[in-house]
Amino acid sequence: MTHAAPSPRGEEIAAGLAEVERRITDACAAAGRSRSEITLIAVTKTYPASDVRLLAGLGVADVGENRDQEAAAKAAECADLALTWHFIGQVQTNKARSVAAYADLIHGVDRLRLAEALSREAVRAGREIGCLIQVSLDGRAGRGGALPADVLPLADALAALPGLSLRGVMGVAPLGEDPAPAFARLYGVAQAVQKDHHHANIISAGMSGDLPQAIANGATHLRVGTALLGRRKPFVR
Ligand SMILES: *Cc1c(COP(=O)(O)O)cnc(C)c1O
Repeated sequence: MTHAAPSPRGEEIAAGLAEVERRITDACAAAGRSRSEITLIAVTKTYPASDVRLLAGLGVADVGENRDQEAAAKAAECADLALTWHFIGQVQTNKARSVAAYADLIHGVDRLRLAEALSREAVRAGREIGCLIQVSLDGRAGRGGALPADVLPLADALAALPGLSLRGVMGVAPLGEDPAPAFARLYGVAQAVQKDHHHANIISAGMSGDLPQAIANGATHLRVGTALLGRRKPFVR
């Protein structure tokens, strides 16, 4: 690794990372958990590949993106870095081929048709792709996430598909609600999935605003953007 002179942006990101690490350590201590149980995913959407590079230089090994076009370009620009790429957004079925080319772990699998498309493309690319089943935590279908009652059948079907490995579950706390009970529900679903799929032990939960509650409720992976990189500009299509 080359050590460039510290840049203002590098220092800003280092400060953000130190603060996030402090919050994670505190939440682990409060929950009686070890820091080593938690993977921090830096959500780099809307930020340039140069920020990904700065994060990698600070020891961050996991990055998350939610739009295929942007993610594909950034993954290509950062191909020399040993990073794990997490796709954390909705995957449209017609983007399965593109996403399957660079994503190591896909967090938003919520329907069999998408799992089948990803399986085909993973096999075609000669890759094995980890998948998390996104669980709807607001009890409503159709806004991203399978209803809790549909998760076990989807887990069984996904685990049987070639090219994919079922690694666990993912959830987003509903807006305007206490996130703790939502993450507790996610934990319950995760335990039910793990009963039949022992290696599906990832629980992706917790963002900048609710990472302590996620850690208190068993999260293994945090998806943190704003607290690391600053507030994103509103996305203009
Ligand atoms: C953008 C995003 C995040 C990061 O959110 P912050 O509040 O910026 O930490 C986490 N998860 C998903 C699914 C996202 O789209």
